[in-house]
Amino acid sequence: MPRVHLDAAVIPAELSRLDAALALSVEQLTAIKETLGESEQAEILEAHAMMLADPGMKDAIVALIRDETLNAEWAVRRVFREFGDKLAGAEELLASRRADFDEVCDRIVHNLMGERPSVLAELPPENSILVAHDLPTADAAVLLSAGRVIGLICDFGSKTSHTAILARALEVPCVVGAGTCSESVQPGQLIAMDGSTGEIWLNPDVVEQKRVEDVRERRKTRDRELLEEKDLPATTKDGRKVGLYANIEFPAEVPSVLAHGGEGIGLYRTEFLYLNREQLPTEEEHYKAYAEILTKMGDKPVVIRTLDLGGDKLPIGHRSHEQNPALGLRAIRLTLKHPALFRTQLRALWRASVHGNLRILLPMIAAVSELREAKQLITQARRELVHEGHTLPERIPLGIMLETPAAALSADRLGRECDFFSIGTNDLIQYAMATDRGNRDVAYLYRPLHLGVLRLIETAVEGAGVNGIEISMCGEMAGDPLYALVLLGLGLDTLSMNPADIPRVKRVLRGSGLRDARELLQAAMSFSSTDEIEKFVMNEMGKRFPELRTAPLLEAGL
Ligand code: PEP
Ligand code: MG
Repeated sequence: MPRVHLDAAVIPAELSRLDAALALSVEQLTAIKETLGESEQAEILEAHAMMLADPGMKDAIVALIRDETLNAEWAVRRVFREFGDKLAGAEELLASRRADFDEVCDRIVHNLMGERPSVLAELPPENSILVAHDLPTADAAVLLSAGRVIGLICDFGSKTSHTAILARALEVPCVVGAGTCSESVQPGQLIAMDGSTGEIWLNPDVVEQKRVEDVRERRKTRDRELLEEKDLPATTKDGRKVGLYANIEFPAEVPSVLAHGGEGIGLYRTEFLYLNREQLPTEEEHYKAYAEILTKMGDKPVVIRTLDLGGDKLPIGHRSHEQNPALGLRAIRLTLKHPALFRTQLRALWRASVHGNLRILLPMIAAVSELREAKQLITQARRELVHEGHTLPERIPLGIMLETPAAALSADRLGRECDFFSIGTNDLIQYAMATDRGNRDVAYLYRPLHLGVLRLIETAVEGAGVNGIEISMCGEMAGDPLYALVLLGLGLDTLSMNPADIPRVKRVLRGSGLRDARELLQAAMSFSSTDEIEKFVMNEMGKRFPELRTAPLLEAGL
């Protein structure tokens, strides 16, 4: 939710907007309560109504809008957060109580946006850098797609949070986990930033501006040179070919995939069809998006992942009220619980399959039973369509994401019942390390080169091998050239990444040998601590590829 400073002239209108949203929230709660009779749920709603009626809270919100000229959405969020924090300090705040706070806050903000989605409707000016405290992925999808934002800075988040992934997909430089940056920046202030190193300059002087410009020009030249190899295969000096595929969030990214030399699409995150809207997409909308991608990709493989909603990917205005959303009803779990939601997507996938080389990927499979249940629903969707007169292929290759340690460790069995694997390291690392992928306080543990993570990948590759099926990696780890040799050594068949990362990874693979990569991996895995493994890998990569030295991880490791 971006923070916006308002013009003094619109403050009275903003206050009326707040009043209207509060009144509407009370009305909604009363209407729902009436349908519930006497129940525990009704008591909870009564508590919500009391929060809404709290004069202290409203006064604090009004003060922020009037005295600090802040937009109502931001003011509501900040006051609710402060009240919640105070309560947490004064007493043992039960998780459920905090969830109530969040729910009331969401309701007001949702009503504010429903009435006039001020922040989202007023698109930022051309060439702006958007600075936000926390920007939900759904809001980012709206704000960044408009093409006016040339940089994004968020106090919260991490490299693998979906807002950051989305920014990279749209080629918007992005710094996440920027502390309290949003509180120090004023609208209209000049900012320079470097999305690769995470540096931010407030009011840069001419020397700094020149430096940033120079770096940008140098990188552009390097990228242009790398693109000259776009049609060459990623084959190592000793003949091992690794497939380089692209991850996409929107059909509009297909030209970028082809321009960067993507040999196929290794991951289309279909949940983005759900994010920047309130209504569910229809079967026709799914079908159109899939058919467009498949047609444009010709006979190149296109892996479409069934929806992975939940966690940090929720439609606009929604927030999970589960105590542990990352461990809750997300991805395949959500679709198996709501088969009608799944059916819409599966029907569209079958119908679109005639347009190209489609493969279906199921997210976050943790148990064989989930895979079997999903397969039944896939078969059922085909049966229905054939009954309706559609001519369809007998089968579509079906793969699963390996994103939980349990799945990676039982890959030999899962592989008996599917056609390919794709390792989702963004989640695999989060679950292996018990570390929220978007939480910067525990980010020190979120390390792709942790021995435990490497062993999980190694086991997953073995599981694919015994079943003779292909194994890919589509997490952010796959797109970082500094990890390319490690991944080559581990034996991944294909790597799927943000299209713009393909040329740099290709350059490293083409300049490497499989035997060297295996030796490097073995040596790396002989160390005990992640620091030692990282330092070793970065040093070795620096020796072989000095041009990678601009990467922050490498600088830190040397
Ligand atoms: C992953 O977890 O690595 C992955 C590719 O899926 P997502 O980032 O969408 O969770
Ligand atoms: Mg994932």
